[in-house]
Amino acid sequence: MSIEAQDLDLLANDNRGKHQLEAGFDLLGWDEVTQGSVLASFEGDASDVAHKKSEERTYSNYNSYTATVASWRVIKPVYNRDICIDCQNCWVWCPDTSIISRDKQMLGIDYDHCKGCGICVEVCPTNPKSLLMFGEYSDLGESLADWPEKKKKEEK
Ligand code: SF4
Ligand code: SF4
Repeated sequence: MSIEAQDLDLLANDNRGKHQLEAGFDLLGWDEVTQGSVLASFEGDASDVAHKKSEERTYSNYNSYTATVASWRVIKPVYNRDICIDCQNCWVWCPDTSIISRDKQMLGIDYDHCKGCGICVEVCPTNPKSLLMFGEYSDLGESLADWPEKKKKEEK
């Protein structure tokens, strides 16, 4: 069944997944692609693409970067800048390259591609953690207000 344009807003909650659904109108199905086809990852000249930031690249609709997996998630990591020490542990360990970092400074989370696995939270070393998992629809301000206090060392 084809998806009508007016249904996109209903199917893509808070615009999550909207880009993917829109792109889907023009994409071939897996069983329509002929053998030997090349699905280009980028539009136009991609010779300098390795030196560009991800948001500056001209991805093709066949590149997984243009597809969002946000609708897979039921819980999401929330980032607390006030506690973060920019150690980059979360950036190294995220299996979906969904931690946004520039010049060794943690900036936040790419919620289009984060799958909500929680690994970034596990590896965050601060006390309390600078990343915590909250419900997908939780409000940022409320999540930050609920942040736990620093745990004290147990007395021996
Ligand atoms: S929850 Fe998983 S996918 Fe999302 S930012 Fe953390 S490590 Fe990456
Ligand atoms: S692991 Fe924690 S402290 Fe380290 S950069 Fe990520 S959020 Fe910040």
